[in-house]
Amino acid sequence: MSLEQHYTAILGQLGEDVSREGLLDTPKRAAKAMQYLCRGYQQTLDEVTNGALFSSDNSEMVLVKNIELYSLCEHHLLPFIGKAHVAYIPNGKVLGLSKVARIVDMFARRLQIQENLSRQIAEAIEQVTGALGVAVVIEAQHMCMMMRGVEKQNSSMVTSVMLGEFRDNPSTRSEFLNLVR
Ligand SMILES: [Zn+2]
Repeated sequence: MSLEQHYTAILGQLGEDVSREGLLDTPKRAAKAMQYLCRGYQQTLDEVTNGALFSSDNSEMVLVKNIELYSLCEHHLLPFIGKAHVAYIPNGKVLGLSKVARIVDMFARRLQIQENLSRQIAEAIEQVTGALGVAVVIEAQHMCMMMRGVEKQNSSMVTSVMLGEFRDNPSTRSEFLNLVR
């Protein structure tokens, strides 16, 4: 069965009349939307970074703040939406700025839990740049908490992953945390 046919079945199971006018193209649209939201499965780190790695003597922290993030939780297939802050300490190489955002997007566009998403982003940045340290903080609101279950409308979840210098050196870590706060 195609994704589209599965959506028709789901709508029927939910009690809908799948032949009514408003729903005629819904299975097709829903299938397309879901494929878009999960397009990260079709991407690789190589493709996404596309060789945009440049030599640099800079050994100061590079920080990309407030990267918009849209993902789906792997437990309920409901969105979680927020911002990622990503920093690294270069070790001779820096990554094109837009590529940091594209790495975030590649992992966000898969089924996720926020903790794993944070770690995957950090490890990918480390792998691509060979950085001396990487820090990732994600702050997000989860529709599975807001629309169902405990229905906590204003709670947001914060996760962080610190690698290398950010883990080992408290002053580097606190510099980063002060910059994103
Ligand atoms: Zn969930």
